[in-house]
This record gives sequence, structure tokens and C-alpha cells, in this order.
Amino acid sequence: MFSRVGTEKKYARIAVNVAHVQGVFDYHVPEDLKPILELGQLVIIPFGKQKVQGIIIEFPEIPAVPRTKAVQEILDPVPVVTPHQIMLAQMISEKTLSPLGATIHAMIPAGLSIKADLLFQLSESSLEIVASGNDLLQEPSPSQALILDLLIKRGPLRGRQLDRALPNRNWRKTAGSLERRGVLISQTTLGESSLGPKLEKRAVLSAAPEVALEMMDKLAKKGYPDALARRQAILKMILEAGDEIPASRIYKDAGGTNSDLLQLARLGLVEIRQVPVLRDPLDGVVVESQSPPDLTPDQQIAWNRIQEDFSLGHPEPFLLHGVTGSGKTEIYLRAVGQCLQEGKQAIILVPEIALTPQTVSRFMSRFPGDVGVLHSELSPGERYDTWRLARAGKIQLIVGPRSALFTPFPDLGLIVIDECHDDSYYQADHNPRYHAVSSGVDYAAITGSICILGSATPNISTTFGSREGKWTDLSLPERILAHKKTIQSQLSQASSPPSEERFRDLTDQLQMADLPAVEIVDMRSELRKGNRSIFSTSLQNALIETLQKNEQAILFLNRRGSASYVFCRDCGQALICPRCDTSLTAHQNQNVLSCHHCGYHRKVPRKCPSCGSERIRHLGTGTEQVEAAVKKMLPDARTLRWDRDTTREKGSHWKIMEDFSDHKADLLIGTQMLAKGLDLPLVTLVGAVLADTGLHLPDYRAAERTFQVLTQVAGRAGRSPLGGKVIFQTFDPDHYVIQAASAHDYADFYQQEIESRRELGYPPFVNLVRLEIRSRDSKLAENKAAGYAETLRGWIQNQGYYATRLVGPVPAYFSKIRGEFRWQILLKGPNPVQLVRDHPPDADWIVEVNPPVIL
Ligand code: ADP
Ligand code: ZN
Ligand code: ZN
Repeated sequence: MFSRVGTEKKYARIAVNVAHVQGVFDYHVPEDLKPILELGQLVIIPFGKQKVQGIIIEFPEIPAVPRTKAVQEILDPVPVVTPHQIMLAQMISEKTLSPLGATIHAMIPAGLSIKADLLFQLSESSLEIVASGNDLLQEPSPSQALILDLLIKRGPLRGRQLDRALPNRNWRKTAGSLERRGVLISQTTLGESSLGPKLEKRAVLSAAPEVALEMMDKLAKKGYPDALARRQAILKMILEAGDEIPASRIYKDAGGTNSDLLQLARLGLVEIRQVPVLRDPLDGVVVESQSPPDLTPDQQIAWNRIQEDFSLGHPEPFLLHGVTGSGKTEIYLRAVGQCLQEGKQAIILVPEIALTPQTVSRFMSRFPGDVGVLHSELSPGERYDTWRLARAGKIQLIVGPRSALFTPFPDLGLIVIDECHDDSYYQADHNPRYHAVSSGVDYAAITGSICILGSATPNISTTFGSREGKWTDLSLPERILAHKKTIQSQLSQASSPPSEERFRDLTDQLQMADLPAVEIVDMRSELRKGNRSIFSTSLQNALIETLQKNEQAILFLNRRGSASYVFCRDCGQALICPRCDTSLTAHQNQNVLSCHHCGYHRKVPRKCPSCGSERIRHLGTGTEQVEAAVKKMLPDARTLRWDRDTTREKGSHWKIMEDFSDHKADLLIGTQMLAKGLDLPLVTLVGAVLADTGLHLPDYRAAERTFQVLTQVAGRAGRSPLGGKVIFQTFDPDHYVIQAASAHDYADFYQQEIESRRELGYPPFVNLVRLEIRSRDSKLAENKAAGYAETLRGWIQNQGYYATRLVGPVPAYFSKIRGEFRWQILLKGPNPVQLVRDHPPDADWIVEVNPPVIL
């Protein structure tokens, strides 16, 4: 596929991704670019009447079109994607039907071309003249002299550097004339990283406190009351802080401006400093360097197996199936250590939400200096910096969400995907619609890297695939009893000694802990007993007890599927479609229920069709309601909410996490977010307010997702010698998901679920293609969907796709998003991808291959 060394690069195949053009086009290579053009370079090409940027992905012998235009210029001599990344992009595009242009451009930081700059340097002949000690020009103008002087002293310089060195001079004009005379040369290049240390202005008291206090009084007595009051407040704040504090905080908390600070500095009371800070918001993370602990016997077995593959090379992926708290991260850390030792780089993927200081600091403390972190709150500049550092081989390890898979490491040796069941690894909202887990497995094969997928609750398809694909299954069945030191020191500080022997003996030896026991509470009988609260008696008592002991609790609410289906509070039955057996769901109009599959609809009935009860309700309780209920019961409880509303602001995830782990709150109430990455010793109680929410969503993975989230949330309790317990409140206590999750029994759940998938014809036994059309005009969307479905049916018939089923067109479950109506068609079969590849829909269709969610 790639041109052989020595082959003349006559043509270049270039991936373009600009508005409405996401394709691959051929150009010819002009003579002067032939020696320097390389795969993966970012170039400028003419496209229609515009000039656009594209990435070279191939040097074909023969172009796809007879007449080609010329590549115009190279933006940077260093390729922006590696040959391996190009192969990955081609593979993703092939498998997911995403346009190649969009796929390859997803691998580079947005707005990269804006960073393009010119690099100026002395020409070969000039360098010789300088080396022989002669003058370059006989009588240089002042501008010429300045430029040449700089280039001689400092070597090659970028335009932006010359701008800074020669302000107020039209040096570009001078440089242009020098270039025409052959004295210097210029070349396009991507800008240098702007990653100088960022400076933060801070203020600190510079006088003795007594003097400052005295001055404060004096200031108060002088004129200009407003300004003086401000300065007084500032001084007071600095005095109380006793240490340097950021000026931004002073302006925010004490009022006042820079000029107030300057005034105080002039009086000799404070000193203003510029302190270098890392730009990463995770910089606040305390990093203690950490040496690896001894492995548990299970960890040792798993690690030996992985180590073997490090020496054998080109291995199959590992599925590391370990219960929550079983020490999977320690295995990742070992693997990273081995990888770095071999001089290769590593990619660690974690769900965005698990990217807490806790997780990051474990990698930073083991490999100080080598780690780059990507997360959603970075600015484009910070992303660009990280990307450049990786491309230049200046960091060896990246920790980040799915897009971190596209880090351009020169010599990748390891890919870890933690919590590999997490849906956030799938990019659903724009092209390329890819899944970072399957893409990660492909990328590992392309690069010959070790690949470890870790989870306590792997997806059914992953487990099935790993068995079929003969991957290596590694298991960590037991939880490690951790945090002994923390608990010990807390105990020794406690004012009243622990009342009873609730703790295992706190020896230094490695011990295993039981997974927390789960109690299932039948909410139907609570109602029968007359308890109308959202908390069962059992959960109420447990909450009170936990807070009395000064320990912490987590209350979990499933956001998915709340307020969307209707069920009977007495018998627990959800209302189902008489034709399809799936739950009926309420859409925009809360009084009408409809079937997602066949379009059946009906009004919300007054009475339950199975038991006749009139207590038939929409489901739906929010975190705020739960918080209010807690406050009513325990007015003194300190609560924190972790949901969409409380996490809008930048940095709020970390703040909530930190506050809770610092025990600034007793109770954390949250949604899906709190299922991941938290390892908190004081949490001894977890309550799922309604464990069966989400079970009845019309998605073939509804049961699986509910099992996963319940298992994960339950896993937050009982991580220390304090032990822990879990309560699932449910209206459906016998459901196999609730039963299996409460027993921490993945194998049992897998058995039941895989059978139902086989029967109903869902992945992993078929492949899915989901086709979606959106429009503000609902009739238009419906008609288009009907039209394409008809055509597809024809092809299915005529071309022998006998095993392929077409479902729909139906309105999507979320039938309207941002003012647009959504209609969907689902293809189920052995190879629906081929069908759609051969007969692609119009560009306004969204195409997804095996999407994890079909709502
Ligand atoms: P997982 O990633 O499987 O949820 P972790 O790696 O977070 O589990 O481990 C759970 C706890 O056990 C952590 O507090 C961790 O520091 C501790 N731990 C892991 N491995 C060991 C070990 N070999 N010895 C001692 N403590 C360990
Ligand atoms: Zn009923
Ligand atoms: Zn139906």
C-alpha cells in the first residue's frame, strides 16, 4: 500500500476534511516537493476555488482521475500522523463506514493549520561564509544586519520569534529580499509548543504582621474610603492566608484590582511574584512518588502471563476481568513500567468521568515526568501542546479518554483500556463514529503492541468475542483490602475510640476483602406497609447508622430511563407492547405511550392491566428530590450532589470528588458519574434508590447496562477495613439482573443474557447497522426514511441477504433532539455493513455500525 523506498513520488493521495468535503483526492507532486514529501504530512492543496489542507495517506503509482492538480505546499516537514495511524484510519473507515477524511483528521488537534508558521534560516552558502569568518553582506541595511545577526547567533528562527525579537520593524519584507538573493531560506512549519511555563501572579506578605496590621488601621483612617477599604480587605486576606495566594483569587474574594495590589507593594507591605504553574488543571494533584507493592497471588499470575507476551511480541489482546478493587490498575502500572523500560510508549484509556485526580496521580507518581493527560477541560492550546510533546517523543505515556487513542507516539508498545465496557468509548455524535475498544484492539495489532482491556463487568459481546477470538482471559476474582494506613491513622485521631471490634486486625500484610453484601429491598411491600417515602425502612436505618459512625454513604440514581416508562407500583409490572413485548415509553406527550419497535400506541391507562391497581405511575425521581428527602430525615447531614446540574462549571468534577474524599460531606448523591474510579475508604454504605430504572428501556443492552452500573456502584462500598454494605431498592426483586448484580455474579448474568441474545437475534450473534435521518420537518424525515427502507428491502431481496432483517423505519426512542425529528432503520444480519457499503444512503444519513446504544 505504501510506496517502496526509492519509488518516485509522482502522485499523492490526500485526505480532506472541510465542510461537506470528507473524502480522498489525488494530486500530482511538483518537482521541488518530490524530495521532501512524506506520508502523513499536512499539506495545502487547491480544491475548487479554495485552498484547503489535507493529509497525505498514500503515493499511488496511478491517480484515480486522469487530470490532477499540484500539491501546493507542505505545512510542516514532520508528519502529523504516523504510517500506523494512517493504517488505523483506513481500518476504522472501512469497518464503521465513516468517511476516511473525517477519520484521519480526527487524529490531529483541531485548527492545526492555524499554528503554521515560517521557519527562517541561513542558506548553505551563507553558513559557509559565516564559518569562514567573512561578512555576509558588504553594506547591510540596519534591518538586514539585525536579522542576520539573530540568525547567526540563535540559529533557525520562526516568524513569531522574529516578531518578538524585532518589534516595530517590517522584517518580513527584508527577509523576503534576502531569501531572493539566496542569503537565507524559509520553510513552512507548525508552531513551536507554546508550552513555556505559564506564570501565575501571586501576592505574599512582605512586612511583619504587626506592621501590616498597623498599616491596615492607618489605611482605614485616610481619605478615598472605597479604595482604602478594598486595600484593607486585600491586606487582611493576604495576612490571614500566611502564604502566597493567586492574585486572581484576591480580586475575586476581596475585590480590588491590580492597581490596589501594586499600591500595597509600593508601601512595602506585599510582594508580587510571578510563579510558574503547570497549565494542567490536574496540577493540584499531590504526587508522592510510589514504588510498586508486592503483587497478590492472582495479580502475579496475570502479570506473569502479560510479561510473557512482552517478550514474545505480537500477542492477542488480554481481557483482564477483575472485580472492583481487585488491583487491575496495579497490573496496568506494571505493564507501563515494562513498556517504558523497552523504550516504547503507552496509551491508557479511561472513561472521561474516571479521569479523577485519584486515577491520574497513580500514574503520575509511578512515572513522574513521563505522563501527559488529556481531558475535556483542556483548551485547544493545551491539547496541541500535549500532542506535540507526544509526537516529539517527549512524553512516554498518555492517560485520557477515547481520543487519546490517536496520540501520535512514534513507537507504541502498550494500549490499556480501563473500564472497557463503558459506552463513552463510542463516539456517537459525529464522524468518525468509532468505538475506541475495537479500534484499540486493531491499533494494537497494527503496531504490535500489548493490549489490555480491563473491567469488572465486560460487555457481553466483549466476553463472547474474547472466547471466540481466543484472546487471553485473565481474572482477578478477589478484592484487595486496602487503605489500612488511612483508617489506622483516622482511628488513632478519633476522639472516642471505636466502640467494638468492627475492624479486621490491621496488620501490614496483604489481605483480601469480601465484596460488600447486597440487600434487596422490595419497594412494593414497603408501600403495602404504608411507607411512601423514597427510602425504605432498611435504607433509612442504614443511613442513620452510617452517619452516626462518622462514615460516608453514596446514594445512586440511574439517570437513564427515569421518567420514561410507566409501571405499576403495586405489582411492579411495566406496561408493554402487546405485539413486541418491549416496554412502552412516554415521549414528549406524557399521556401517550408508544412502542419503539412497531409504532403501537395507547393512552396511559387508569388501571394496571395485570392487577387492576390504580397506582400506576411514571417513574422519575431526581437527585434534588433525593437530597431533599435526606435533609428531611437527617437535617444535619452534609450532602453533595454529583449530577449534570452540579458539574457544569469547569473543574467541578474534581472539586466534588475532592470534597467528598476529604470528608467535607457525609453523603454523595449522584447519577452514573459516581460509578467509576472512586476508591474511598470511608464509604461503607451504598444505596441504589431504584435499582430497576433503566431495565425497561427499549434497547437490547438495557439489561446489560443496568447490571453493569449496579455492580460498579455497589463496588464503591467496603474498600477498607471498615467494611461496607449495599442496598438495592426495587419493584422487581426477582429480575435476573437484580439477582445477579446483588450476588456479584457476572458469570450467572452472562449465561442468561447470552442466551436471550441468541434467541432474539442481537449482537454478538448478528451485526447491526443503524441508519438515522433527522429533520426539523417530521413528515420529511419520515418520508425519507420510508423511501430508503423500501430501497433497502429491495436490495435485501434481490441480492440474497436472506438472513438480514430490516426493522423500521420508526421514530427513534429520543424522537426529537434539538428541534429535529429522528427516524431510524435498523439492519440486523451477518453482514449488513457490506449491504450499506455497496448501497450507501445520501450524505444526510447518519450511519452507525454496531452502536452500543440504539435509542
Ligand atoms: P481496581 O483497579 O481493580 O478497581 P485498584 O487497582 O484500584 O483496583 O486496587 C484497589 C486498592 O487496592 C487500591 O487502593 C490499591 O492501592 C490497592 N492495591 C492494589 N494492588 C495492591 C497490592 N498488590 N498490594 C497492596 N495494595 C494493593
Ligand atoms: Zn399492577
Ligand atoms: Zn410493538
